[in-house]
Amino acid sequence: MKSTVHDNWDREHLWHPYTSTLDPLPTYKVERAEGAHIILADGTRLIDGMSSWWCVIHGYNNPRLNMAAKDQIDRMSHVMFGGLTHEPAIELGKLLLEAAPPSMHNIFYADSGSVAVEVAMKMAVQASVSASGSHEKTNFATIRSGYHGDTWNAMSVCDPVTGMHGAFGPALPVRYFVPQPRSRFDGEWNPEDIAPVRKLFEEHRAELAAFILEPIVQGAGGMWFYHLQYLRELRRLCDEFGILLIFDEIATGFWRTGRKFAWEWAGVEPDIMCIGKGLTAGYMTMSAVLTSRNVADTISHGEAGVLMHGPTFMANPLACAIAVESLRMLNEQDMGARVKHIEAQMKRLLEPARGLGNVRDVRVLGPIGVVEVMQPVDVGRFQKRCVAAGVWIRPFGRNVYIMPPYIISDEDLERLASTMVELVKELPGHAD
Ligand code: PMP
Repeated sequence: MKSTVHDNWDREHLWHPYTSTLDPLPTYKVERAEGAHIILADGTRLIDGMSSWWCVIHGYNNPRLNMAAKDQIDRMSHVMFGGLTHEPAIELGKLLLEAAPPSMHNIFYADSGSVAVEVAMKMAVQASVSASGSHEKTNFATIRSGYHGDTWNAMSVCDPVTGMHGAFGPALPVRYFVPQPRSRFDGEWNPEDIAPVRKLFEEHRAELAAFILEPIVQGAGGMWFYHLQYLRELRRLCDEFGILLIFDEIATGFWRTGRKFAWEWAGVEPDIMCIGKGLTAGYMTMSAVLTSRNVADTISHGEAGVLMHGPTFMANPLACAIAVESLRMLNEQDMGARVKHIEAQMKRLLEPARGLGNVRDVRVLGPIGVVEVMQPVDVGRFQKRCVAAGVWIRPFGRNVYIMPPYIISDEDLERLASTMVELVKELPGHAD
């Protein structure tokens, strides 16, 4: 099987994510994609383990989603949302509120996950200033090892060590960080986990507008699954100290943790919630920020009287129409059973990695399977081996993980997961 498809022009001129211009990692040219398969320009067919970074939940080139896009494009692909509205935005809003925590009432459509985080943080500041009458209460707290995106404020709440603080340092606003909860999702709850939050709130309540975190699963900051009791305790503390709670469900939403949204595990609702990625099933960039009537109205009672945000492509009808169809597809299936099936298969297939000498941990939650190895993985080398073996997996740091599209067949998942274990055996530190 031919493996690498290098394109020199691409290498010379196109910036890929987090990439050096001097020594870029190899890229593979994709010709098309269908279902759970990515087909490279040289004909190599790869089983997709990444859902293109969490978003392609129904697989590629889905006929129903294609039709929704085509139908909408013949009407209008875009129209401004200032002073105008349209059926796809309204229909999507209704479906989102049906799926969201009951207290969610107002929806702001934004362009991407990072922008949703910016909007959520702006909402929190405006609501906090309006409620407290103080411009002091505008800072944020979060847990370490989080990831919330690449724009300025989103970067400021990413993990200060593994995130962007190294490159941007004092250019970033200074936030408050508490340790990552170490109680595992499937382990015992250790009350010590929440103690630093109480201490922080006692000392800094007057400065804090909100606490932001990814519920249950920390994604790009370390693929860590923590105990649901943390969210319950955090909600209690936020209420006690008058601090808003923001859930970033951009990665965890739309069944990726085994529930429609991750908040459901703990049964606690946020004040503000960000969704993105799977929202349009990977067809278009779009996100949404949901909030309670109380937060929305508090903002409106504030000095500005309005929420100060309004992007050009807000509520893009094409993206909304695709998202509507995707949500209908989710609603028509027994998604709980579907993702449980994938989870069970991944648990069985990844378990053999646990005994390997170079593996630190194996964890599976919903359709997310992680093998954490002892040393950071050489991504370029690993991906070369993946492509040669007919799978698409992109590790980061010490985490080799898969989160395939939900339509993946049992045969493909078997091959994907068992190939992943075989490739992990090739990483340094494993001795048979
Ligand atoms: N929040 C979380 C939890 C994410 O995983 C991501 C993307 N990986 C973002 C925010 C940023 O989303 P985007 O890349 O669409 O800006």
